[in-house]
Amino acid sequence: MRSNVTQYDLIAPTSLDAVLQILADSPDHYTPIAGGTELMVALGAGNLQPRKLISLWNLEELRFIEDATDAIIIGAGATFTDIRNHPTIAERLPLLTQAASWTGSIANQNRATIGGNIVNASPAADTPPALLVYDAELTLVSSHGERTLPYRDFHLSYKKTALAPGELLHSITILCNFGNYKTYIRKVGTRNAQAISKVALAGLARLNNTIMPKFVTDIRIGAASLREIPTRLHATEQTLLHQPITPETIAAARAALINESKPIDDIRSTAKYRTAAAANLLEEFLRSL
Ligand SMILES: Cc1cc2nc3c(=O)[nH]c(=O)nc-3n(C[C@H](O)[C@H](O)[C@H](O)COP(=O)(O)OP(=O)(O)OC[C@H]3O[C@@H](n4cnc5c(N)ncnc54)[C@H](O)[C@@H]3O)c2cc1C
Repeated sequence: MRSNVTQYDLIAPTSLDAVLQILADSPDHYTPIAGGTELMVALGAGNLQPRKLISLWNLEELRFIEDATDAIIIGAGATFTDIRNHPTIAERLPLLTQAASWTGSIANQNRATIGGNIVNASPAADTPPALLVYDAELTLVSSHGERTLPYRDFHLSYKKTALAPGELLHSITILCNFGNYKTYIRKVGTRNAQAISKVALAGLARLNNTIMPKFVTDIRIGAASLREIPTRLHATEQTLLHQPITPETIAAARAALINESKPIDDIRSTAKYRTAAAANLLEEFLRSL
């Protein structure tokens, strides 16, 4: 049954400092809401637990994309539309442009923020595999100041994150040093739009280009829906590092992926399908190299 909105309280301070002060004064009382595309689904379904919401929507301190010389810094309040339309992200971080462009629908992308996607901490979310292979760094902010954290350390267990009470995700920094990497990203869902992934894989690989035969000098594979948190497939990566791409190394990598995957059965898919599809995506990536 739909929630009764009169039982909810929403405040919308006009600055980040004001939001942080309110969170500092009563860290357990207010839940941040950005685009609301996760929280409003819960409201519609009648199971939005927090009764007091504090809006981050359109705070200019959070909604920005900074194109620095060697990095791109994306404010947590940037929407997927902001990201997919950004020319430097498209050129230098194409996996992120692709992930942003297949999240939900256009209407959803106009509201949904990258910060909400990260903090909501769904193992099936679209941006985490790309953020993992790009080795993104998060800046977290509270009334006590800022701290940075590698994104790989943000998800602790299912839906549990390293955010402290009263702390917000401020921005995501990604170094742009992937010019000589091959890229791969693919999401498997029920249909092309409005579908949460059954499984998704993002990949970056660099091959030597001087010595023959070519072999892998760096490889990163990020996955959605293969574990309880978004994850890098380190054991799979290890089978490929310093190896040429051959039928034998592809077979070994497939076996490693199957071995290190721990997907679940749920309403969107089965563990068996997820593992098999992910192994096929991996093979598609490796053959493209
Ligand atoms: C129709 C529909 C289709 C969708 N399709 C997809 C899809 O294909 N792929 C996908 O990944 N997701 C999908 N989603 C989920 C959702 O749109 C995304 O996860 C989105 O990025 C959430 O962002 P938001 O700003 O709307 O988050 P909100 O709903 O505002 O917040 C989500 C969570 O993050 C917290 N939060 C938000 N910002 C911050 C911050 N800066 N600091 C600390 N905490 C914060 C909130 O407290 C809340 O717990 C879909 C949702 C809908 C309704």
